[in-house]
Order: sequence, then C-alpha cells, then structure tokens
Amino acid sequence: MAYEIRTFGDPVLKTPAAAITQIDGKVARLVDDMFDTLYASDSGIGLAAPQIGVQKQIFVWEIDDEAMVIINPEIVESRGEWVYDEGCLSIPGLYVEMLRPNEVLMRGLDLDGNEIEIEASELMGRLFQHELDHLNGMLMFDRMTPDQRKEALAEYRRIVDEQAAAKPRRLKLK
Ligand code: ZN
Repeated sequence: MAYEIRTFGDPVLKTPAAAITQIDGKVARLVDDMFDTLYASDSGIGLAAPQIGVQKQIFVWEIDDEAMVIINPEIVESRGEWVYDEGCLSIPGLYVEMLRPNEVLMRGLDLDGNEIEIEASELMGRLFQHELDHLNGMLMFDRMTPDQRKEALAEYRRIVDEQAAAKPRRLKLK
C-alpha cells in the first residue's frame, strides 16, 4: 500500500530513526509499502522509512531495474568529491547542486539478516548518503551553507506557493 510521503516541516523527518532489532513479517510488509510508495512517486529512486512516518533504520532504492533494501545501514568509508543536482521526495520540486563524497562503502543487513557491504559511486553513492541522512533526521537543507540554505528555502517556498495557488484556479474552472 502506497503511503503519503511526509514533506519538509513534518517533525518525523527531523527525528533520528531507531535500529531494527528483529527482522520479521512487519519489516517485510514495511518494505512492500515503501516500494509501493516509491513507485507511486513521480521521480523517486530511493525512499527511507521516516519519509512514510516510520522511525526505523531502513531504506529502499531502485536503480537499473534492481530493487534493493538495506537495514541498519552505515557508511564505513567515503572518498573523493562529486557535485550533483540533488532532489528529495520530501522537498518536492527543489533541486540543489550539492557537493558530497563520490565513492562510499555502505554496510548493513539484508532482509534475511545477513551482513551486506555495497560499494557505490556517483548516483548510487549519492543516493546512499541522501537516504542515510534521512535515517539520521537530516534533510538536504542541513547539508547546505547558511547562504545556500537561505536561497534554497526561499525557492522551495515559491514552489509550495505556486502549487497552492494552482489548486483553487483549477477548481474554479469546474
Ligand atoms: Zn530525501
């Protein structure tokens, strides 16, 4: 079942998520719901549990038709630098050029409880860092310099206002 994605301003996005201590049927259902929500979104490639209001350390992603999940992830190594126009399903419409490490080594558990390690760079490396931030209660705004943040917040407010203004106009046409 697809859930509504929590957006910027929702306190759940600022709360660090708890580690998963038992991988059971509830976790499997959560993963199904997270993929349903991800596929129902316009442009998402990754989704962290707090984005649907669940304070658990788990995220899912799909790149090149490969659907993956990781539980209790941590980044154990990072290298290099890469600039990318980053977006977030919880800050819809905003894309900001962000500098982060390029290559990362992520460690965590799969759905069977086995330890897994994944090395990634560029888009996938960026996705890992972005989703891990969600599990730590951080959004893109928290990674910006004060000037960048001011500008990005103003742009996001404009996007939200435009979306709000577009709705009543459509209703009047009916
Ligand atoms: Zn995000």
